[in-house]
Amino acid sequence: MLLGVVAGSLLGVFLLIRAGVETEQEPAEKPRPRIERPPPSEISYPGIYPARYEIDAVYKEEPRSISGTQIVRYVNAEDRPMRSLHFRLWTNESVFTDLGGGTTVSSVTVDGERARSSLDGTDFEVFLPKPLTENATAKIVLDFETDIPEIAAPFGHHSGVSSMGVWHPVLAVYDEDGWNLAPTTEFGEPYFAETADYKVRLTLPKSLTAVATGVERNRAEGRSTRTLTYEAESVRDFALAIGEKFERVSRKVGGTTVNVYHRPESAFRAERALDLASRSLAYFSETFGAYPYPEFDLVDAPLVAGTEYSTLTFANLQNTEDYVFDTVVPHEVAHQWWYVQVGSDQFEEPWLDESLATYSEWLSAGDAASRFPDPVPPTTPLNTSVADFPDSYTYQNVAYLRGAQLYRDLAYKIGEERLLRGLRAYVEKYRYRTAKTEDLVSTTSKSAGEDLTPFFESYDVAPLKND
Ligand SMILES: [Zn+2]
Repeated sequence: MLLGVVAGSLLGVFLLIRAGVETEQEPAEKPRPRIERPPPSEISYPGIYPARYEIDAVYKEEPRSISGTQIVRYVNAEDRPMRSLHFRLWTNESVFTDLGGGTTVSSVTVDGERARSSLDGTDFEVFLPKPLTENATAKIVLDFETDIPEIAAPFGHHSGVSSMGVWHPVLAVYDEDGWNLAPTTEFGEPYFAETADYKVRLTLPKSLTAVATGVERNRAEGRSTRTLTYEAESVRDFALAIGEKFERVSRKVGGTTVNVYHRPESAFRAERALDLASRSLAYFSETFGAYPYPEFDLVDAPLVAGTEYSTLTFANLQNTEDYVFDTVVPHEVAHQWWYVQVGSDQFEEPWLDESLATYSEWLSAGDAASRFPDPVPPTTPLNTSVADFPDSYTYQNVAYLRGAQLYRDLAYKIGEERLLRGLRAYVEKYRYRTAKTEDLVSTTSKSAGEDLTPFFESYDVAPLKND
């Protein structure tokens, strides 16, 4: 995520700007067409993926909502039986529920048996009717409805666009510390998920344009609705944007189609956005390893600046100066490597992806060695949890700027080429997986041929353990 850059320092811009309620009348709700469900298949995901999602969803304008059925096939890759599974309902943050948004789950079954569940804010726990043993698979079916609030945010409707970075129940991450159920905070991003495969069928009024993670595989035209089928492999989330008047410009970058979807009033920025996104994607592919997905979508959404999701990024094409916009797009594209491909816990270790996205942004602009020459004061260690930063300003100074300065100074110390070789090795080793600070330190050390732990510690990074 990037909020804004002004006069050489990141502003503590409050992310969520409350929007006035729109009063225009929407077309009446249309009946939902019959959807044929794909046959269940036996799927096993050794190692990397614990889950596969199949979602049939219907988007309605009045009241504005997206609802449907979600099938999750979950493999217990842990060395112990699981008695319950936790899902995150990120839409149930109070900033959204206060405006009438949020997700309710009306029924849950596990392997055909009705299952008990409990909801605590954004934590939705499903109690398995019987323990799921190691390597066994469970099929969880959830019926959900998500009401979309009127707000200019990564989840909300505003200015003719429904932005849905989060909208459906997402399996929480289970690791050596157990379930990751961090609370949400006023700044930073709480989102943390493992990679998964998705098949999503979305039905919406024909008058609207949908943009989604992954690629469109099929479209079926009804009388007044359209059903789009998307597939995405090895992605960390499945984001959606639905626009009333989206226009598109596209370009091919290697094997990837880069699309910019913009509102008509943003047309003045569309070509600049496409240029920036295409150049960034090509540059980061060459620098950190090839972008592995067939499509990348930049969606003009009414946010403060930008927010990243898998193969799809929201960026406001309108509300910034050119020079700010020119930093937002590379930063968000860089997140396709830092967070989307190499996963990290954005709540516990937000510096991991934000510092690399910021440094990548400097590299792509060609001024990484000279940007922000004055050291940011070390007010708190780099690898501090979002919960332990005193405020948004400190968070951005440390996790973004001081973190990026670490890489700039490391490039001075060991040479930029050795640093980039280390970062390529980091991507290669942790692509589609989840990395921690100690993984970054050990991978770059190994690649550099010297122990970089003292250097990282000189920036107050405290590696937790080494390989
Ligand atoms: Zn960011």
